[in-house]
Amino acid sequence: MAEAYTLRNIHFGYNGKTVITGLDLNITEGKLTAIVGPNGSGKSTLLDLMAGYREPQSGSVELLGRNIRNYGQLELSRTTAMAPQEFGFKFPFTVCEAVLMGRHPHVPRFSAPSKQDRAHADAALKIMDLTPLASRSVAALSGGERQRTVIARTLAQQTPVILLDEPTSSMDIRHALVALREFRRLAVEKKHTVVAVLHDLNLAASFADEIVLLRNGDVHATGAVKETLTPDNVRAVFGVHCNVRWDDFANHLSVSYRLEP
Ligand code: ADP
Ligand code: MG
Repeated sequence: MAEAYTLRNIHFGYNGKTVITGLDLNITEGKLTAIVGPNGSGKSTLLDLMAGYREPQSGSVELLGRNIRNYGQLELSRTTAMAPQEFGFKFPFTVCEAVLMGRHPHVPRFSAPSKQDRAHADAALKIMDLTPLASRSVAALSGGERQRTVIARTLAQQTPVILLDEPTSSMDIRHALVALREFRRLAVEKKHTVVAVLHDLNLAASFADEIVLLRNGDVHATGAVKETLTPDNVRAVFGVHCNVRWDDFANHLSVSYRLEP
């Protein structure tokens, strides 16, 4: 399997405060990889480095076999789409316009979106159940509706690499499952690479092929779900005790937690 990302000896800090400390990581192409870890462990920072939004202070980020620094801006936005953890729309776009913004990297300069661009946006609206809200202003949406709009925009962008920072944190369970099922489908059927920061270990167990456990800006463990999602790893990274078992109904490993042993 080819690598979508190869990160080598990455160091990164903000204003002299080190956040990522000599991190090495490979992300397999065509898989859904979940990044999990405590608050402040560097998950969003790592995703920003992978999106090319930030440059490592040392070390290298290779995207599909090339140093990310050698990508042009347009090429990068045709290759990777990012759904950030925090998002505010600067203008009172409609939901439809906000999703159509995902087509921006594909629309030639000074041109209007094509019929095909509109079709991609419409399909993304439909998947996220936003068709009835399409003409509403993004300024007047609930948190979960706004998050669904950002996810639809990411889907409309149709990139082979998709980066999601806590993509379902404000969604109801149904929409969380719908969104992750669609990203899973993109990985399985289209061989797209999806990297999602998730807090819910059960969602990670259900949808991810691989898990990266991040702790203090470095990888504590990485690999297939059943090898990484172990009580020992969860205790080491989160400081909670857990029980991991197969759940026939959910059809995935399921995790329950408590503070005391
Ligand atoms: P996570 O997403 O895992 O919760 P982040 O990558 O957002 O963690 O943050 C990692 C660390 O870097 C935290 O200690 C946070 O306070 C710090 N940090 C994040 N963004 C900034 C920033 N823009 N300026 C200064 N410090 C930051
Ligand atoms: Mg974060």
